[in-house]
Amino acid sequence: METGSTSSRPPGSEALARRVRSEERPRRGFEYVEGWGMAMGAESRVWRPESADEVAEVFRRSRQSGRCLALRGAGRSYGDASINDRGDVLDISAMNRVLSFDEATGIADCEAGVTIRDLWRHSLPRGYWPKVVSGTMFPTLAGAAGMNIHGKNNYKVGTIGDAILEIDMVLPDGTFITVDRERRPELFHAAIGGFGMLGAITRVKIGTKKIHSGEIDVAGISVPNLGAMMDYVDAHTGTADYLVGWLDCFGRGEDLGRGLIHHARYLEPGEDPEAERTLTLAHQHLPGSIMGFPKGEVWRILKLVSHDPGMRLLNFTKHQMGKLEQRKGWYRQSHAAFNFLLDFVPNWKFAYGRKPGHGLIQYQVFLPKESALAGFTEIIGRQQKRGHTSYLGVLKRHRPDPFLLTHAMDGWSIAMDFAVTPKNRESLWATTDELTRVVLDHGGRFYFAKDAVIGPKTVEAMFDAEKLSAFRALKFQLDPGEMLQTNLWRRAFGPVETFTAPA
Ligand SMILES: Cc1cc2nc3c(=O)[nH]c(=O)nc-3n(C[C@H](O)[C@H](O)[C@H](O)COP(=O)(O)OP(=O)(O)OC[C@H]3O[C@@H](n4cnc5c(N)ncnc54)[C@H](O)[C@@H]3O)c2cc1C
Repeated sequence: METGSTSSRPPGSEALARRVRSEERPRRGFEYVEGWGMAMGAESRVWRPESADEVAEVFRRSRQSGRCLALRGAGRSYGDASINDRGDVLDISAMNRVLSFDEATGIADCEAGVTIRDLWRHSLPRGYWPKVVSGTMFPTLAGAAGMNIHGKNNYKVGTIGDAILEIDMVLPDGTFITVDRERRPELFHAAIGGFGMLGAITRVKIGTKKIHSGEIDVAGISVPNLGAMMDYVDAHTGTADYLVGWLDCFGRGEDLGRGLIHHARYLEPGEDPEAERTLTLAHQHLPGSIMGFPKGEVWRILKLVSHDPGMRLLNFTKHQMGKLEQRKGWYRQSHAAFNFLLDFVPNWKFAYGRKPGHGLIQYQVFLPKESALAGFTEIIGRQQKRGHTSYLGVLKRHRPDPFLLTHAMDGWSIAMDFAVTPKNRESLWATTDELTRVVLDHGGRFYFAKDAVIGPKTVEAMFDAEKLSAFRALKFQLDPGEMLQTNLWRRAFGPVETFTAPA
């Protein structure tokens, strides 16, 4: 397929030059706001409203001043989804109250800055767990809805949008609106997954799932390659509550895609004789040390192996340990320990380096089920050939959902972490450009929460043309001057006119 140039250029020296470190303080009244992967960021004024009225006031000021505005939750998107090198940032995280929780139905009514952590800590002692969580507990509900996040159970329960019942928004012109599947359904389905381009979500009403224990049954299944991993997952989607595969992207030939699957299931009533105890917050506590090391310092050890030979060895060792884990059979883990593995090691991203220009990008590719095995095999093979092997690979099974620009499909994804350095930046972007063409040739898609590289041609190729123009029409209707912008929007949907104050 002829796609032309599918990528954007790497954020280059200009963006890096703006990177502010302690010795280089931001301008007065400005903050350095970065993507979670640290590879991109910008200096901005940051507004932290505490109510929907204050959100509307920030919008009014932006309209008047002509400074464009990016919406931001907890800043857990890896790339440039909530940064804005041409204007201000509205950070929703101060709106963080759980307004009500119905213990009969498990429906939570929350301000949009409530995090997934706040939500499960509120719901768990009442016998409920969020239906959809990401691999980290720190995203806000606003950011989670803005990206329409998925969990390790996407194939079974859909994305977080499927669990959301209603949202309040402040539109760019200052209008307050409540939308759901009946009231302005087109806006509900576009704003969820609309990456903050249509208005600010200020309240989220969301369903949670009844649970009968604070623990979950888990089994580790070691697999010799990608085909075996996908066969296992496909054979268990009907019965498992969660399925996720870790894969060693250094494996080649017969070993390509070797790894470890985690298969988990909720406990039925009565299966946990100590449910009262396990449903306490104390039982969800993540350990303070890992193999004797204080967990806050573990990233320093990871840093020592954060290069190709080290990561090859680490992945190999993990694969061997997976074989031992399989021998354990089923074991029990708290919900927090199972779901938020990545939060075990605080600041693990620092292992990728903290100097300007260093960091990581995550590149999550979605392929339809028919072409997934062939496409992933090609993608992993090509990155190895080009000398940019992903240090971490995570496989998930997905299902379609009704949201306008959704990333989810009846297929699979692999999320891959690539180290970024000032030296490898150009060649890494050239590699992802090549991989992007493979993804598009196989009918695949990308996910904006994990993206830092794709350009407008890719966006046009990956979405249905009608859906894309419906989204653009809604953006034009609600935000004709494009007051709401992020670096992601300009990179992947550009060119964008400079937002200016009315004459
Ligand atoms: C370690 C780690 C693991 C992760 N695992 C997963 C995973 O398993 N599954 C998954 O799907 N994602 C995962 N993610 C990605 C993360 O869940 C998403 O990027 C999520 O959107 C982050 O939420 P946030 O609150 O940090 O929002 P931000 O990253 O700050 O913003 C996300 C988007 O929401 C928009 N937005 C922010 N506030 C509002 C608002 N008030 N109204 C409307 N739009 C708004 C922003 O403009 C932006 O486009 C992971 C991230 C990390 C760092």
